[in-house]
Amino acid sequence: MFARNRRTLFRKNLLAWYRQFQRDLPWRRTKDPYRIWISEIMLQQTRVAAVIPYYQRFLERFPDVGALASAPHDEVLRLWSGLGYYSRARNLQAAAKQIVALHDGEFPRDEESVLALSGIGTYTAAAIRSIAFGAKNAVLDGNVARVLARLGAIRGEVREAKRWKSLQKTAGELLDPEYPGDWNQAMMELGAMVCTPRAPQCLLCPVAKFCRARQLADPESYPEKRKKRDAVQITLAAAVFSMPRGRTLLLPPPAEKNGTPADDDVPTLVSRMWHFPTVAIRKNPDEELRTFLEQFLPDASSLLSLEPLAKVRHAVTYRNVTVLPFRIVMPDIPQIRGAKSIRLEDFAKLPVSNLTRKIARAALLPRQAK
Ligand code: SF4
Repeated sequence: MFARNRRTLFRKNLLAWYRQFQRDLPWRRTKDPYRIWISEIMLQQTRVAAVIPYYQRFLERFPDVGALASAPHDEVLRLWSGLGYYSRARNLQAAAKQIVALHDGEFPRDEESVLALSGIGTYTAAAIRSIAFGAKNAVLDGNVARVLARLGAIRGEVREAKRWKSLQKTAGELLDPEYPGDWNQAMMELGAMVCTPRAPQCLLCPVAKFCRARQLADPESYPEKRKKRDAVQITLAAAVFSMPRGRTLLLPPPAEKNGTPADDDVPTLVSRMWHFPTVAIRKNPDEELRTFLEQFLPDASSLLSLEPLAKVRHAVTYRNVTVLPFRIVMPDIPQIRGAKSIRLEDFAKLPVSNLTRKIARAALLPRQAK
């Protein structure tokens, strides 16, 4: 992207800015690959401010790879509960077990071994290895790609395979070989704090004089916007059993299935965690929920009285989900294989998704006068 002397100056300016203005974040105070790994996984698709309390709680409970590998799976999910994208937590624990089994509990240093761990791809491997071990691997994520597209005024969608590959090459050429960890974090920090998707703050930018998009006076038009997938509307009905002693019933996490799930695949939408009995609705919520419940309770169709609760709305990527929860008063706790009975007030103790939590809140609202 730049001739050698300009590249040297570019690196100097960016690193000096980063060292002066970087945010003080908990994972920047360590070189421990385990802690950096946890932060990188939590930060995927999640804002820094949301991650900080989760990061701290998670590390208090699981201070090292061994503690994470040997923890009950439910507890790992419980500490992740609310952060979303739960496959990240499952992969973290699976990778911790791999590290214990194959590397004596020490986070591996070589690229091949790191890439073989569950849930770790090129970006995460480069981030962990550069920060913890000084490996000369440049990171490329959406933030860095945007900065590079603007610096070089590169047209086209950055995620297009050929363009992404060429950006990876550019990122590698720019990487400061003396300080790869700081360099990668500086590029990400620039994308997060200054060269933001909307209204980049070019006046505060430490590398503004190198930027082609700025010279063209139109930085925001780079890179080209990704074509958004149309939103899909999905309706679900959920059964909230109201049982003696304020208890309700949850079904266990559904098993993983191979292949791409349908848009209204309930396990995908409720997350693979403890959840209310839930079914995707086509036309008639009341009737379809009764039919669904018959697989657990043979008399569900005729016997159950369904009281509609407040609607719950939830967005999962491009899907807009509306859940119609129904309270179903039961004189006894029904015997459903694998199900767990829990007090609605005790949801914080269980690994459940945000959607399940919202349904529980709807059930706790005072009943409407009829
Ligand atoms: S000058 Fe503006 S557009 Fe260019 S890198 Fe800096 S913040 Fe981004």
